[in-house]
Amino acid sequence: MSTTSAKILDGKALAARVRAGLATEAARLTGKGVTPGLAVVLVGEDPASQVYVRNKTKACHEAGFRAFDHKLPATTSESDLLALVAKLNDDPEVDGILVQLPLPAGIDARRVLLAVHPRKDVDGFHPDNLGRLLMGQPRFVACTPFGVMKLIEESGLELAGAEAVIVGRSNIVGKPMAALLIAADATVTVCHSKTRDLPGVVRRADLVIAALGRAETIKGDWIKPGAVVIDVGTNRGPDGKLVGDVEFAAAAQRASAITPVPGGVGPMTIAMLLANTLISARMRAGELAG
Ligand code: NAP
Repeated sequence: MSTTSAKILDGKALAARVRAGLATEAARLTGKGVTPGLAVVLVGEDPASQVYVRNKTKACHEAGFRAFDHKLPATTSESDLLALVAKLNDDPEVDGILVQLPLPAGIDARRVLLAVHPRKDVDGFHPDNLGRLLMGQPRFVACTPFGVMKLIEESGLELAGAEAVIVGRSNIVGKPMAALLIAADATVTVCHSKTRDLPGVVRRADLVIAALGRAETIKGDWIKPGAVVIDVGTNRGPDGKLVGDVEFAAAAQRASAITPVPGGVGPMTIAMLLANTLISARMRAGELAG
C-alpha cells in the first residue's frame, strides 16, 4: 500500500475559518444597520440544485447574513423570472442575487444572468464583472476561482513566475481562473478538449487546476513532482460517490499539495459567495466604492 506524501488542502477547514471571519464582519455591519442579504432563486426541482441552495442558505444564516429564498415552480416563465430579478435589483436589503443554474428548458439562462444588476452579481458571472476581472480591476470574482486562489495561498506556492496549467475554459471556472493567475504573475496555459498533448502540457506545470468535469482524467503520473494540484471537478461515480477530475491517490504521491474531492474546492465556493455578498454590503454601507 502506497503512502500519501502531499499536503492535503482541507477546503472544509479553510472555508470554516473564512466564514468565521465573515460572521465577525457581518455582526459589525449589522451594528451599523446594514445586515448583508443574499437572495437565492431556485427554479424547478433539480435535486442537486436543491442541496446547493439549502447549503448556501444555511451558510448565510450561520454567518449572520439574511437569506431571501425564492423557490419557483419548473413551469415559471422567463418573463416572470425576469420580473423577480428586477424586483430584487431594486430591493435595498438585497446585496447579492444568486440564480441557481441550471434553469429549466425554455428559460434563456444568459438573458437572466444579464438581468442581474452587476453590483448585486455576487456569482461574478455578469460580463461587467468578468470584464473588470480581465482588466485587473475586479469587483466580484466568480466564487469557485476566488476560492481556488485561497487554497493556492494555503499551499504556500509562490505564483510569480510559476507555470500554471488550467484544464477547462468555461466562463465560470477556467477563464476567470486564468485572469486571476495572470494577475498573480503566473505563466498561464489553458487547455480544453482540442488540446493536442494534454499529458505533455500538464507534466510541465508547477500548478495544475483541473476543471474539465471528467472523472479522474488527469493521471497521477502526469503530475510533476512537487506540483500543487487543485481539483475543481465534481463527478458522480457509478457508486454514487463524488470523484474529482484527478486520479487522487496516484497524484498525491507526486504533488506537494492537493485538494480532496469532496472537501476541497466545493466548500470554498460557498464561503466566497458569502465573501462577495459581504463586499456588496460594504458598498451599501459606503465603506467600499462600487
Ligand atoms: P464545463 O462548462 O463543462 O467546461 C468543461 C471544460 O473542460 C471545457 O472547456 C472543455 O473543453 C474541457 N474539457 C472537457 N473534456 C476535456 C478533456 N478530455 N480534455 C481537456 N479538456 C476537456 O464545466 P465547468 O462548469 O467549468 O465545470 C467543470 C467541473 O467543475 C465540473 O465537474 C463541475 O461540476 C465542477 N465545478 C465544481 C464547482 C465546485 O464548487 N466544486 C464549481 C463549478 C464547477 P471545450 O471548451 O473544448 O468543450
